[in-house]
Amino acid sequence: MFLKNLQKHFAILQKHGVVADSLFTVPPTPIVERYIRQYLVPVVNLLPARTRYASTALLKKVRNFHGKLQLHYPSDFQGWQLISEEIKGLELRPWWEKRAVVCLCHDIDNLQGYHFTARMAEIDAQYGIQSTFNFLTHDYPIQNDLLTVLRENNFEIGLHGDTHDQGFAFRSPAAIQKRLTRSLDRLQGHDIVGYRSPALSISHHLLRILGQMNFVYDSTMQIASSFYYSVQLPYPYYLEQFGIWEIPLMVQDDNYVRDTRTSEHEIFRSLQRFLTEIIPMNGVLVINAHPHLMVNRQKFYENFVRYLTRFSGHVAFVSMKAVIEYGCEHS
Ligand SMILES: [Zn+2]
Repeated sequence: MFLKNLQKHFAILQKHGVVADSLFTVPPTPIVERYIRQYLVPVVNLLPARTRYASTALLKKVRNFHGKLQLHYPSDFQGWQLISEEIKGLELRPWWEKRAVVCLCHDIDNLQGYHFTARMAEIDAQYGIQSTFNFLTHDYPIQNDLLTVLRENNFEIGLHGDTHDQGFAFRSPAAIQKRLTRSLDRLQGHDIVGYRSPALSISHHLLRILGQMNFVYDSTMQIASSFYYSVQLPYPYYLEQFGIWEIPLMVQDDNYVRDTRTSEHEIFRSLQRFLTEIIPMNGVLVINAHPHLMVNRQKFYENFVRYLTRFSGHVAFVSMKAVIEYGCEHS
């Protein structure tokens, strides 16, 4: 099922035999990766923070040893070609009278990131961006005042888990439910409707439990990284079998500043490509900028946000929750 304002787009896909249901699936996680996530990572997590980051960085280097940026762009996929070709010239504005949407979000992975949250919100607000902050509830102490201020300033509060457990999706259903419940209890009163799993850990039973617990959307499936399965379509999509919307994630700052050595110039060129390709298909570009990766790159982050807002004539900058609400109401 799709949002009402994307009816035309999904009709085009259907006409050409592209089945969205078969794209939005969860392929089984390879057994080795599953065991590393379930058993090895928790051991590494007992190490001091500095050693832990060094080991994560090392693992990423092993996966991508030459450090080159390897991303998929919307135009790499069949859906983009079919849709942008067919609606070309229509200048559709299905989102708040804009052609496309950027959902900027911030997964707060650790204490360092938590400390930068308020400043990051200030920068976003300065540029008129309503972003989504995804919190962990049990890895650092959260002050209710901060959550209240964020909400009063039109930011969305989302859930990133209790701890940054990379094997979360592979824990038992009972454990998953218990841990999500304690997180929701901690964030009670802050209107939590969205979730992104730590390190994009995902499984059928996690999605099913999220749906049963009345989360409105998940944002764990992804598009652009060449390391994970790609759903290929930068649109929200309702997963009937789990009873939850999926809003796939496209750009992550760690692709640029942690896993590769990408110059600022190249980063903006890449962003430009994402933006100019998302606009003709009326897509939703979800970008994750981690506060802990931006705290020592404040100037860069400001440039990054300023760069995005160059496209504000065509693009709405809203929270993920707002995207689902809007798309369910407007055709
Ligand atoms: Zn995270």
